[in-house]
Amino acid sequence: MTLQGPPTLVLENGLILCDPSTSEPEIHSRTLISGDIIASLNTNEKINGSPQVVDCSNCLIIPGLVNCHVHSAMSMFRGLADDLPLETWLNQFIFPSEARHVSPEMVRLGSTLSTVEMALSGVTTVADAYFFMEEAALAVIDVGLRAVIAQGVLDVPTPDAKDQGAWKERALDFFESVPSHPNITPALFCHSPYLCQPGTYTSAAQICKSNDVKLFSHVAETLTETKLIQTKYGVTPVELLNSSGVLDNSFVAVHCVHLTDRDVEILLDSQVGIVHCPESNMKLASGYARIQDLLDKGLNVGLGTDGAASNNNLDLFEEMRSASLLGKLVTRNPEAVNAMQVLTMATIGGARVLGLDKVIGTLSPGKQADIVVVDLSQPHLQPLYNPVSQLVYCARGSDVRDVVVAGKQIVRNRELCSVSYDDIRKQVLELAEKIASDTGKKLFQTQG
Ligand SMILES: [Zn+2]
Repeated sequence: MTLQGPPTLVLENGLILCDPSTSEPEIHSRTLISGDIIASLNTNEKINGSPQVVDCSNCLIIPGLVNCHVHSAMSMFRGLADDLPLETWLNQFIFPSEARHVSPEMVRLGSTLSTVEMALSGVTTVADAYFFMEEAALAVIDVGLRAVIAQGVLDVPTPDAKDQGAWKERALDFFESVPSHPNITPALFCHSPYLCQPGTYTSAAQICKSNDVKLFSHVAETLTETKLIQTKYGVTPVELLNSSGVLDNSFVAVHCVHLTDRDVEILLDSQVGIVHCPESNMKLASGYARIQDLLDKGLNVGLGTDGAASNNNLDLFEEMRSASLLGKLVTRNPEAVNAMQVLTMATIGGARVLGLDKVIGTLSPGKQADIVVVDLSQPHLQPLYNPVSQLVYCARGSDVRDVVVAGKQIVRNRELCSVSYDDIRKQVLELAEKIASDTGKKLFQTQG
C-alpha cells in the first residue's frame, strides 16, 4: 500500500516483529503511520512533512497485545479475598461486595484503573465483561485503548438489572446507549451455564446475531460446574450450549478447563473462539485447559488475564510466561505451548477470537496502527539470542516503553499521555476505604 497522506507518526530503528505467527524479528528502518493506519512498514522511504519521530533503538516493535478476557471494574476488589476456591470466593466475598458497591461510578473508576494498568503494560485491545458497561467503554475511550465491551447477562438479579430476567431489557438498552466510537465494539457476556439457563443463552445469542456482535461466556471453568450441569441436564456444559444452538464462530468460550474429547470436537466443528486464562485457573485451582491439544486441532485460542480479583494483575507478559510454563508442566513436554505459539495467542490469535484480525493483531500496511515498543536494554533481557523467547520468558509489562493505538501515542517513555494516574489513584483509595470497612478488612495506606 502506498502512503496516502503525509505521515503523522514515525517509528525509527530497533527491531521489528510484524507477525508472531509467521515472521522472524527483523532489523527495523522506519515505519510510517498516517492517521490511524500503518502506511508503510519497515521502509527506507523519505519522510514528508514534519511528523513526530520516535527513536526505537535498543527496542523491539511488536503488534499491540490483545487481552481477550477481563472484568476491568473488579480491580477495585484486587486482594480483597485470596487463597480461596472459586465458589467460596464468589459467594462469600465477590457477589456480596458487588451487590453493595457496583455502581456506574465504581465501574468507571475500576475500569479506568485496569485500563491504565493494561495500557502501561502493552495491551492495546481488551475484551471486557461486567455490568454498567457503557461506563467501561467511557474509561477505555478516556485512556485511549481499543475494546470489545460486553454487557453482563445473568438469570439472577445484578447491580444493573435488579429484577429476575431483567437482563434482556438491560442488554437491549446497552446496545442503544453504548458510546459510538471507532475503538469500541459492543458484545454480550452470559456469565456461565450455572448462572444462565439455556433459554437465556438462546435469547442472548439472538440479540448478538441481530447486532452482528460476539457472545462471550465462561465455560467449563471448574469441576463443580461440570458436575452441576451433568446432574441438572445430564450433559457437559459444552454439550448443553451446543444443544441450545448457540455455538458458532460468534461465540467466545472462556476457560474451557474441563473438556471431554467430544466437547473438543463440538468446539472445533462450531468454530468457537477459546480464551485461555492460565493464571486465574491456577490461582483458583480450577485446573488446566488442554491448550496444546486445542492448538494442534486448529482451534482459535486467545489469552486472557481474567479480572484482577482472581489473578491478581493484568500483565499479559506474565500471562504468556505462565501459559507456556504451565503447558509444558502438565504435558511433561518442554516443546509444548512454545514461545511463538504463546505470543501468537497474545496478538493475532486473540484478534481472531475477537473477530478483529483484519483490523489488528499483526503489523501490516493498511491495518490499524496498534503498536507496542518494548525496551530490550534492561539486564533481565540481555543478551538477545532470541527476541521471541525473550518477550515470553523474560520480559515484564514494565518493559513496555511506548504504546500506540489507532495511530495515537497513549504511552510515551512509560508515561500515560491521556489521563492523570495521580487523580485516578486518589479516587481509587477513597472508594477502597469504603469497600474495606464494609467487608471488615483493613486498607493499608502507603502515604505518610
Ligand atoms: Zn472471567
